Amino acid sequence: MATLVTDNCQRCRFTECVTSCPVSAFHAGKDMLFINPDVCVDCGACIPKCPVQAIYEDLDLPDKLEEWIEINERQVKTLPIIKAKEIPYEGAEDRKKALGF
Ligand code: SF4
Ligand code: SF4
Repeated sequence: MATLVTDNCQRCRFTECVTSCPVSAFHAGKDMLFINPDVCVDCGACIPKCPVQAIYEDLDLPDKLEEWIEINERQVKTLPIIKAKEIPYEGAEDRKKALGF
């Protein structure tokens, strides 16, 4: 089992997800976050913290988002760990509304 971030995360940075993680499994890219499957303990704490439903356990992952399993695995190899909350991106609230949340 693994927990991963999908494309709804792009241009967000609300980052409540990060502060709920007990093992610092999140890594930060320029536009979105990713979860290291080798570090994540699948506690699920981050999932309800995400306001745009970007985080899934792989068992609940819709088929159309399956590519994000491999993308998370690959991206965490080079991106820095993020542990602290950041300022949301400008437009993050508008994007959230546009996504239907
Ligand atoms: S709250 Fe969700 S969308 Fe925002 S940074 Fe975290 S995982 Fe990405
Ligand atoms: S499921 Fe738990 S351990 Fe995994 S990234 Fe989310 S908060 Fe961290």
